[in-house]
Amino acid sequence: MKLNELELNIDYFEFKEKFYQQLKATPLNHPHLISYNKQAFDLIGLDYEEAQKEEFVQFINGEIVLKGSVPYAMAYAGHQFGYFVPQLGDGRAINLGEINGWHLQTKGSGLTRYSRQGDGRAVLRSSIREYIMSEAMFGLGIATTRALGLIGSSHGVYRSYEEVETGAVVMRMSPSWIRIGTFEFFARSSDAKENLTQLADYVIEQSYPHLKNEKDKYEKMFFELCDKTALLMAQWQAYGFMHGVMNTDNMSVAGVTIDYGPFAFMDYFQADCICNHTDVEGRYSFSNQPYVARWNLEVLANSLGKICRFGNLTDYLNTFMFQYKKAFWDIMTQRLGLQVEHSPNSYSPLIKQLLGALEASKMDYNVFFYELTQLKSLDDISPILNLAVYRDILQEWFEEYKKAIEDEKRSDEERHEVMKRVNPKYIIKNYMLQEAIEHATQGDFTLVNDLLHIAQHPFDEHKSFEKYTKPTPLQFANLKLSCSS
Ligand code: AMP
Ligand code: MG
Repeated sequence: MKLNELELNIDYFEFKEKFYQQLKATPLNHPHLISYNKQAFDLIGLDYEEAQKEEFVQFINGEIVLKGSVPYAMAYAGHQFGYFVPQLGDGRAINLGEINGWHLQTKGSGLTRYSRQGDGRAVLRSSIREYIMSEAMFGLGIATTRALGLIGSSHGVYRSYEEVETGAVVMRMSPSWIRIGTFEFFARSSDAKENLTQLADYVIEQSYPHLKNEKDKYEKMFFELCDKTALLMAQWQAYGFMHGVMNTDNMSVAGVTIDYGPFAFMDYFQADCICNHTDVEGRYSFSNQPYVARWNLEVLANSLGKICRFGNLTDYLNTFMFQYKKAFWDIMTQRLGLQVEHSPNSYSPLIKQLLGALEASKMDYNVFFYELTQLKSLDDISPILNLAVYRDILQEWFEEYKKAIEDEKRSDEERHEVMKRVNPKYIIKNYMLQEAIEHATQGDFTLVNDLLHIAQHPFDEHKSFEKYTKPTPLQFANLKLSCSS
């Protein structure tokens, strides 16, 4: 379809007006296209040719409003670094409406009622990061928001005293933009029960439609979200993804990864790695993530408990860590080419030993799994050991691993088959994004588009990008990122 043929649906105005603000975007000066995402075009049925037209840029910039669309910003609350903030909301994001189950939203489109001290903008570097990373998560099979396109501009945006940056807008799409923080906001309203019921029904319609006519549907919705979040955390941990700001306003009630900020895929393995510069106490450190997710779900239970049985919610929550661990061990077992069914007690001791060995040897985490997949025979593990800074402990682990492999009596071919499907050749790391950002700042968007392609096809060969299959150069590894975006 052509852009002017697309029709969006608006379903948010059934809520009271205090829960949103209708408003128009404030366009950026001199906008230009940086990238568009064909996969997302397919999802909403938009013709690729439309991306070449000036109208596509104007659409992302908020100058063109599609049929049926009435732009709005949502109000929400949230626990930020453990502290409750009663009034947050889309401070720089504007919702446009839904099509094919995708809710379109622009990020960086100007001030809203919820901007607080912010300027409503997003800088180019953080927009490139979100644009590519959301697609990288999708490429790995991890539930996430998607991105339709990215525009840049000559619009000056200030994030530090030293330099002026430029504003950009990412057109994001999600099956839902409702956050745990949305429930917290509704739960604090004067007529909380009525409003929460309406919100819960809305979320069920949007993300859990099969529960619509069920008895105890709000409780069941919560249980399903717990399951989805446990799986999501298992995937984050198994692939070394760090979100960086797991505040309750950045946690989706649809169980997808949202709001990409100072995230990172860890370079070398480090359990207590902190990727967010402002997270001084390490609340959102790598190893804390599953516990924080559980904590956030407990916050949701506090709000939702007003319209269903709180005790049932917390009882279910008590199974969260168990479920998370089970899912985590399963993915890790597959990443090692072992059989989930083989060991009734799980391979958790072997996996724990590996994580310790990887940390001690300063081995690049995802490169390890890729090289293990590539290894022709376990009789010669030198190609892997040569990539580690310290080798002895890793060598000891390999002795245990060999025993497990022999025990399973699985052929090398079978093992390779499984591993190839779960161990990507490419993981988008921060130093790669940084390179793409530097090129884009000079006006060259080739690498942004190349990385987008790699992100979406991480298991494939990308001949010109062999360099990105190597361990991250140590000077760029596990660096902290600033929250300013
Ligand atoms: P975040 O942790 O980035 O998801 O943002 C937390 C809150 O701050 C959200 O309500 C955002 O909308 C808001 N926010 C972040 N940056 C800006 C900005 N530059 N202008 C306005 N609001 C912002
Ligand atoms: Mg946020």
